[in-house]
Amino acid sequence: MRIVVLAGGIGGARFLRGLQQAAPEADVTVIGNTGDDIHLFGLKVCPDLDTVMYTLGGGINEEQGWGRTDESFHVKEELAAYGVGPEWFGLGDRDFATHIVRTQMLAAGYPLSAVTEALCTRWNPGVRLLPMSDDRVETHVAVELDGERKVIHFQEYWVKLRASVAAEAVVPVGAEQAKPAPGVLEAIAAADVILFPPSNPVVSVGTILAVPGIREAIAEAGVPVVGLSPIVGNAPVRGMADKVLAAVGVEASAAAVAEHYGSGLLDGWLVDTVDADAVGAVEAAGIRCRAVPLMMTDTGATAEMARQALALAEEVRA
Ligand code: GDP
Ligand code: CA
Repeated sequence: MRIVVLAGGIGGARFLRGLQQAAPEADVTVIGNTGDDIHLFGLKVCPDLDTVMYTLGGGINEEQGWGRTDESFHVKEELAAYGVGPEWFGLGDRDFATHIVRTQMLAAGYPLSAVTEALCTRWNPGVRLLPMSDDRVETHVAVELDGERKVIHFQEYWVKLRASVAAEAVVPVGAEQAKPAPGVLEAIAAADVILFPPSNPVVSVGTILAVPGIREAIAEAGVPVVGLSPIVGNAPVRGMADKVLAAVGVEASAAAVAEHYGSGLLDGWLVDTVDADAVGAVEAAGIRCRAVPLMMTDTGATAEMARQALALAEEVRA
């Protein structure tokens, strides 16, 4: 079975680990969000691609959900001693090596998709990891700071400000001009099932869908498309999905997120058991819906979520 998964960082990566346990024989292609990418200290950093690569490759800091295990921060301290920031973005020494290799390969002319493939030969994530695009896309967030409207990089909004102010608009800058990376449209066309993990619907999955051609290819693939809600009990399980959903005029609820994707894209949607009363509204919107436990407390629980998603896919296919 060929499965395509549109993934952000932590939510996507953890779900993928469960999917691998649930469907060990499946051929999984991950289309990763690159809208969170940022240039720091002259280096190209791809937080979501790295979170997927490290999580599936066994190098992730499990408690944090991002960054490397067994990490130290000597380079960061030395940079700070020179007064060189930003100090708010935590790049560890081991992690730095990934960004150095990536930047060096990009400077040598390799596209991000080829660089990602090269990095994955070390980590063996067990999936084919594709960036959504080789072109530069950067999510920016409009906020009001000190009485002034400003547009800042998504990482500044999330990591520096901890999403402490309202997001007035979220813009994937460059997305309109971006082309899907080599292999992306081919993987979608060849898929048996397409899954949206419980990733952020605006700044992860939404950004991937903003690359012209990807949304259309999924809608036209003619195979079941099933998503899992990142919103449980009217709040994100972690992160700031509520803030960025508000910026696009969508309520932070499992049903509203399903309707935001819409029946033109989604065939099936899983909500958590605490949101069982949302099933009716989602089905009324033309999307098959089931309430099952959706907390990724461990890989076993996550694998069960993946099984439920695949079962719902077979149900809508029939
Ligand atoms: P990020 O790029 O690191 O923010 O990761 P993603 O976009 O892939 O996933 C973030 C989303 O995952 C957030 O909106 C969370 O609500 C959701 N999430 C995290 N853990 C869980 C969980 O255990 N269950 C569910 N249903 N959603 C989760
Ligand atoms: Ca992210």
